[in-house]
Amino acid sequence: PREEEGRKSMAGSSTQPHLVLVPWLGGISHITPLTDIGCLLAAHGAPVTIITTPANAPIVQSRIDSTAAAGTMITVTAIPFPTAVASLPEGAERLDLLHDPVDVPRFFVANKRFGEAVARHCRDPDAMPRRPSCVVAGMCHTWALPLARDLGVPCYIFHGFGAFALLCIEHLYKHRPHDAVASPDELFDVLALPGLECRVSLRQLPPHFLPSTTMGSGPLREIREFDVAVDGVAVNSFEELEHGSASLLAAAAGKKVLCVGPVSLSRSPNLDPEAAMTDDARRCVAWLDGREPKSVVYVSFGSFGGMPPAQLLQLGKALVSCPWPVLWVIKGADSLPDHVKTWLHDNTGDADSSKCLVVRGWAPQVAILDHPSVGGFLTHCGWGSTLEAVAAGVPMATWPLFAEQFLNERLIVDVLGVGVSVGVTKPTENILTASTRADGGKAEEVEAEVGVEQVVKALERLMDQGAEGEERRRKAQALKEKARGALEKGGSSYENLEKLIRSSF
Ligand code: UDP
Repeated sequence: PREEEGRKSMAGSSTQPHLVLVPWLGGISHITPLTDIGCLLAAHGAPVTIITTPANAPIVQSRIDSTAAAGTMITVTAIPFPTAVASLPEGAERLDLLHDPVDVPRFFVANKRFGEAVARHCRDPDAMPRRPSCVVAGMCHTWALPLARDLGVPCYIFHGFGAFALLCIEHLYKHRPHDAVASPDELFDVLALPGLECRVSLRQLPPHFLPSTTMGSGPLREIREFDVAVDGVAVNSFEELEHGSASLLAAAAGKKVLCVGPVSLSRSPNLDPEAAMTDDARRCVAWLDGREPKSVVYVSFGSFGGMPPAQLLQLGKALVSCPWPVLWVIKGADSLPDHVKTWLHDNTGDADSSKCLVVRGWAPQVAILDHPSVGGFLTHCGWGSTLEAVAAGVPMATWPLFAEQFLNERLIVDVLGVGVSVGVTKPTENILTASTRADGGKAEEVEAEVGVEQVVKALERLMDQGAEGEERRRKAQALKEKARGALEKGGSSYENLEKLIRSSF
């Protein structure tokens, strides 16, 4: 109904679509999928403006430049992020660039000021001659709603989560099954999808439900209010993957839920011009070229992806002792203690002959997952990684770290049947939860929860050549085909992109 009001109040304004997309500055993994959605919308003929900050604009622009056909329809606007006003370190224009938990609330203060500047820009016909017809805002840009209302246009939210996790979150807010548990480790059911037992513990829930976070309760409350008030949800996923979660969420939340992905398929990794590949990327592809088909275990924990040194060591010992070649991406390697650095130096390599190739920079993940040598993916279940594995037809071993990743694990393992669980029970600390540790200890002192044997067992199941492994590979392959179909003309995501464009004017 609000959307209707919005449309009515636009009488007399342009009837041309112009979607304004503002990715949340939580990390690269929030910026790139919304940029890719922008590229898909532009490929469907809709003009798009993506608004970000100066430090993030080159990331957005380079993605657009690699989809040449859509590029001409997209404008990238950089609006300064007021770090100084909020006493943030210079250049801290993304949450993942912060190192000190005290900067987290400051980041949210700066983000509000950023929102005011974005609103001024969108309302100024000289700055933005084509009037916006729809705002699609990242999950914490709560200021986008009053802006959209003021412009009289619909407001969509983009969380970066899948529809199944969003449905579980909606269920948790409405039914609060976690209120009845006696301890943070007690398992309870999130009965969001009919017929599916989804068992998680309080500890494993996203920050919305944790007793305290470094964000403070104010931003979390505002984010939920934003979530409830928006007109629709844009999801990087496809309906066939979600087992009805998208329509159940639409019914439960009373708003449109449009799955428009998987966005990783909007660009072909093979189109990456050789010259644009980093040395790391080139090294990965050359190393994979020298391996047998489906023999490699790819290991990555996303764009933040750190784990306590003791845990990293247990994982490393498993990876070097297992019989498969391993491509292992490590983030934050420079800040590891010396004994772990020495161990990595002595046991892993960066040469073509290495059994366990370690990448310390940014790996070309979509190209890696698409490579014929990759047979399995040990993943932290970040939604971007999950969907990229699905789109490439690669089975997963699941090792969730935090946020909604434990919910994604349930989808991968229990609903889709394309993964095996490593069996992690406790989340890994990150900057949002850093101050909430009861013991107040340091990350260096955190003991490993998962031992060598446990990792090796999960990898054995992942790479299993028997009937169980074969069945997982068959399911993964079937999903890969459905993923491609979703974005083709007449496919579910194709149609949802059209709906998103139509609903905006
Ligand atoms: N990614 C990548 N190279 C890396 C690490 C990450 O290309 O070395 C990409 C990955 O392909 C995915 C995103 O970064 O698109 C990570 O998103 P995800 O939602 O999986 O996890 P997050 O980083 O949010 O924890």
